[in-house]
Amino acid sequence: MPAKKKPASATKQPTSVITGGAGFLGSHLADLLLARGHKVIAIDNFVTGSVDNIAHLGGNPNFKFIQQDVTEFIFLDVPVNFVWHFASPASPIDYLEIPIQTLKVGSLGTHKALGLAKNKGARFLLASTSEIYGDPLVHPQTEEYWGNVNTIGPRGCYDEAKRFAEALAMAYHREHGVETRIVRIFNTYGPRMRLNDGRVVPAFVSQALKGKPLTVFGQGTQTRSFCYVSDLIEGIYRLMNSSSVDPVNIGNPHEMSMLEFAREIIEATGSRSKIVFKPLPQDDPKQRRPNITRAKTKLGWEPKVPLKEGLKKTIEYFRTKV
Ligand code: UDP
Repeated sequence: MPAKKKPASATKQPTSVITGGAGFLGSHLADLLLARGHKVIAIDNFVTGSVDNIAHLGGNPNFKFIQQDVTEFIFLDVPVNFVWHFASPASPIDYLEIPIQTLKVGSLGTHKALGLAKNKGARFLLASTSEIYGDPLVHPQTEEYWGNVNTIGPRGCYDEAKRFAEALAMAYHREHGVETRIVRIFNTYGPRMRLNDGRVVPAFVSQALKGKPLTVFGQGTQTRSFCYVSDLIEGIYRLMNSSSVDPVNIGNPHEMSMLEFAREIIEATGSRSKIVFKPLPQDDPKQRRPNITRAKTKLGWEPKVPLKEGLKKTIEYFRTKV
């Protein structure tokens, strides 16, 4: 007979496992959990994560790192209280280049992470995405909206992997009684984004800092709403500690067009860069803005960091990288 697992409440210092722990969001989550008294085990295969994001945690006795692809069986010989499943490429350029790995980490990786949570009696949180709404026909997006995704388009590998991951989490909840949480993450920015990951924030900021033209795709009329990373991580932490099995949008409802955003970046960097227009990528969502009523009512959460303040910190970080 296998030894009976300790319930989460019996352990004084909680242990958290973060898949994708060396990524942009995973590493910020590790910092917050360590600050709040958790032991953290970060798992990453460095496909899009970076050792630079966790180097400052080296030598911390509460932090452990395992280099592993989470689509393979995850073996851990210690009690675990929380599993945070963040491993995945998340930039359209990345998942265009590695669509199979993107599909595998969203499906097989989620399966392994859920299996770990089930085995340890741990609570599980899935980092899902606003991409599950596809090119949305409902605006702003509420959690009730089922989405408008092109399954066979270039973004399908990410969108469908995350939709599958949500379905799998709910199946583990319903069939195995695993305590599951699903966060739908909207566009997020901040230090530790990869300079060349192709997403609009690193792209515009690095172009502006180098005095190169900012590449606005299409007419720049498409909209996004940007959340600063510390706000996002706080919302996710609250969700894990809440009783909400239903998905929760976490993001900043401050919406702007990409042309407006390019101008904002030029101003914030004090750059003399011009703006050039490039073709709009296929299936690029025309508008995106979270409805955050559920996060407000269930988690008492809303974003606090204004765009100008968040951009200042992000630009400072990128100045050290360009
Ligand atoms: N975008 C742009 N120029 C760039 C990179 C992106 O105009 O150099 C646009 C892109 O077409 C999209 C928006 O910025 O409408 C956000 O793109 P990102 O890749 O950051 O993420 P998405 O929100 O599309 O997942």
